[in-house]
Amino acid sequence: MSDCIFCKIANKQIPSQVVFEDDTVLAFKDLNPQAPEHVLIIPKQHVVDSAYVDADHEALVGHCIAVSAKIGEALGLVNGYRLVTNVGEEAGQTVMHLHIHMLGGRRLTWPPG
Ligand code: 5GP
Ligand code: ZN
Repeated sequence: MSDCIFCKIANKQIPSQVVFEDDTVLAFKDLNPQAPEHVLIIPKQHVVDSAYVDADHEALVGHCIAVSAKIGEALGLVNGYRLVTNVGEEAGQTVMHLHIHMLGGRRLTWPPG
């Protein structure tokens, strides 16, 4: 998707602070962090959100979650962290490329706002 900001980050047209990368997934620091550690994990392939995940994407999205464990270890988030993905406008999704927020480094309240 030529006008998608996260596609541009995935293909390095826009710089980001990368914390993890492999062939199919990129994880980078959120520009506007909501916790001491706030990382966005994205598939490099453009997928709008988790409502658009079909059989072809299931392994890819599972991989996004699997790499969060490595990132948590690398960032020293031994006391826990939160994974959250916003789907659609009412949930607050602003970038229409599937991303999993990884938040940690402070006590997180529940439920989120
Ligand atoms: P959403 O609200 O769609 O769930 O989350 C989008 C997130 O992307 C926000 O937390 C926002 O701060 C982050 N973001 C938006 N544009 C950029 C950018 O260009 N670079 C980085 N690193 N984060 C971005
Ligand atoms: Zn995209």
